[in-house]
Amino acid sequence: MNNYNNYLTKKAAELIRENFSEKGITNLLVIKVGKKCKRKLGHIKAIKNCEYGSLIEINPMLFDLDVPEFVLDYVIMHELTHYFQGFGSNHEKKFKYPHKGKIVEKELTKKGWKEIQEKSDKWLKENWAKILIKNNLDPTIKRKRRKIFLYKNFFR
Ligand SMILES: [Zn+2]
Repeated sequence: MNNYNNYLTKKAAELIRENFSEKGITNLLVIKVGKKCKRKLGHIKAIKNCEYGSLIEINPMLFDLDVPEFVLDYVIMHELTHYFQGFGSNHEKKFKYPHKGKIVEKELTKKGWKEIQEKSDKWLKENWAKILIKNNLDPTIKRKRRKIFLYKNFFR
């Protein structure tokens, strides 16, 4: 687990340098491995409060060797975009909601991540269920009395 945390810290620093160099880290930013979760690949929240710090937690199942590195990169970029858009951080908020209007996707497209984003979405749709099964988790969700296969809304 410590290796994963070290990896995430180095990787996040690299992604920030390469993609958000015009922005600053304006509070205590921590990234670490969170809990296994079927649907949520990562999230960001305040530590105490947004002025004090921000915590990004990443789903440990993304470290499975069957998960391509670009998927993990994409998840980290998604959460970092929330950070710099002021969600779970003290950066200036230009939008009211973190996902409305696809503001994360738009920002990442601007930064040249469109292709990775599409590749990553495609991979998750086709393969995430297998990762869940490998972890003894049920890949279906109940919706309107009917079980459907879990394939979207990975990001919160
Ligand atoms: Zn999100």
